[in-house]
Amino acid sequence: MFDSLSDRLGGVFDRLRGRGALTEADVRGAMREVRVALLEADVALPVAREFVDKVTEQAVGQNVLRSVTPGQQVVKIVNDALVEMLGSDNVGLDIDVTPPAVIMLVGLQGSGKTTTTAKLAKLLKGRERKKVMMASLDVNRPAAQEQLAVLGTQTEVATLPIVAGQQPVDIARRALQAAKLQGFDVLMLDTAGRLHVDQALMDEMKAVADIATPNEILLVVDALTGQDAVNVAKNFSEQVPLTGVILTRMDGDARGGAALSMRAVTGKPIKFAGMGEKLDAIEPFHPGRVAGRILG
Ligand code: GDP
Repeated sequence: MFDSLSDRLGGVFDRLRGRGALTEADVRGAMREVRVALLEADVALPVAREFVDKVTEQAVGQNVLRSVTPGQQVVKIVNDALVEMLGSDNVGLDIDVTPPAVIMLVGLQGSGKTTTTAKLAKLLKGRERKKVMMASLDVNRPAAQEQLAVLGTQTEVATLPIVAGQQPVDIARRALQAAKLQGFDVLMLDTAGRLHVDQALMDEMKAVADIATPNEILLVVDALTGQDAVNVAKNFSEQVPLTGVILTRMDGDARGGAALSMRAVTGKPIKFAGMGEKLDAIEPFHPGRVAGRILG
């Protein structure tokens, strides 16, 4: 994860740390390299610019350059700025409500939505001992509902029985009723995706959200699509009240641009990261830990 960015930054910082004294020009030179590294990692241009300006200002403006270990101080400033860019703290799920808490997952087709629904259900059931039910509202993609049922069997999480021909809003209504009657703590709604953000998708999501009044609306996006993922998130967040983002395929993401720009561009926290195809390959997103991995 983030290997190429990590290598690039590692080189810049090794050079900084290796020198006893630093001039303002050294810092500015290093920050130019950081800026290029961020852009090559596919970080949004304004985000990279703001990051570098802020770090430069702090590094040359304080007593950093006169300290005994200026290189280390600069790296610490970069680390702190990275953590902030990634969202500061982990933001958990807001599901301690009168049951059932409703978590709605939205996103484009192929982003990993159905897999993530099952991963999250498994996590909540295992780690938090929640009684979880999943329901697929995806009537567009053939066999999407069956896919979730199979994942339910694999994870031993209940799924709402499939009723052929039922439309998403009606499925949501039925799921809510079943979850209430059967005493589930959490109801997870896997909604239909589309190839692109389109009006029909947004209308459907809004109608489902009106019925289900979710406690969490989580957007699932593919980290490998970089700035596209950020643009999709921006688009969705303008139309539905997203409470957070789940970035999938972080396991294969050498660049990191989506993770690094998401918070700054959309204002939405990344709550979880998908780390593989297996059903336990999901982790809460901790900005501090991720920054630590990037800076080695
Ligand atoms: P949906 O159309 O959004 O519901 O996407 P699916 O859940 O069917 O996922 C599409 C593919 O992506 C499947 O082959 C998943 O196994 C894979 N996938 C989902 N999340 C991850 C992840 O975090 N890492 C990796 N490597 N693969 C993932």
